[in-house]
Amino acid sequence: MSILDDLYKALLKEKKVAYFNSQKTELQVRCPYCGDSTNDKTHAHLYITNQVPYWFFCQRCESSGVLSGGTLDDLDVFNDELSIAIHKEYRDFRRDTTIRDGSKHILSLKSAKFPKYELNGRFKPKKAYIDSRLGINTTREDLRRFKVLNSLEDFLILNKMEHLLDDDRFSKDCWLVDKFAVGGCRKTILTLPSGTTTATSLEGSRR
Ligand SMILES: [Zn+2]
Repeated sequence: MSILDDLYKALLKEKKVAYFNSQKTELQVRCPYCGDSTNDKTHAHLYITNQVPYWFFCQRCESSGVLSGGTLDDLDVFNDELSIAIHKEYRDFRRDTTIRDGSKHILSLKSAKFPKYELNGRFKPKKAYIDSRLGINTTREDLRRFKVLNSLEDFLILNKMEHLLDDDRFSKDCWLVDKFAVGGCRKTILTLPSGTTTATSLEGSRR
């Protein structure tokens, strides 16, 4: 029984529209942020991924985030037990600093190697962006300390995970991240070729 099964039940109890996709990888609910479609009230556009940390995204208004007690309130689900369970799973998720492929651990971030920071190369505009956002001039030492990833592709190759790039979709995502995102090694979700959402690695904002 997953958190989303419980959420699904709680929503039905409140007579809300909620349904899983056929593979049960996502729960769709009516979006409380935009009110969702008025034409078809049986349709739901807020997608919640059925895997910790339960990212959600609305196809209509693009509201997104990670499921929390606050989200439950927004969905009119007032269930303390469920709220605590979500919080606990999220806390455990944040503590786990390993990259996984499904249930298989690939790499612990503690032992991960990070690409060198070539401050005058293609990383230059990204560093300029980080500096402008933080209002400081970051040094190589800062970048190392905060595990800023200058290239996801280089990172994968350096850590002997280049086989992941064999998957076209993942390889394209990787290219997009390298081209348009900056970030440090905090938690986030990457979809690995096996189709399992997982891994930790880039938390960034789009430039
Ligand atoms: Zn919405």
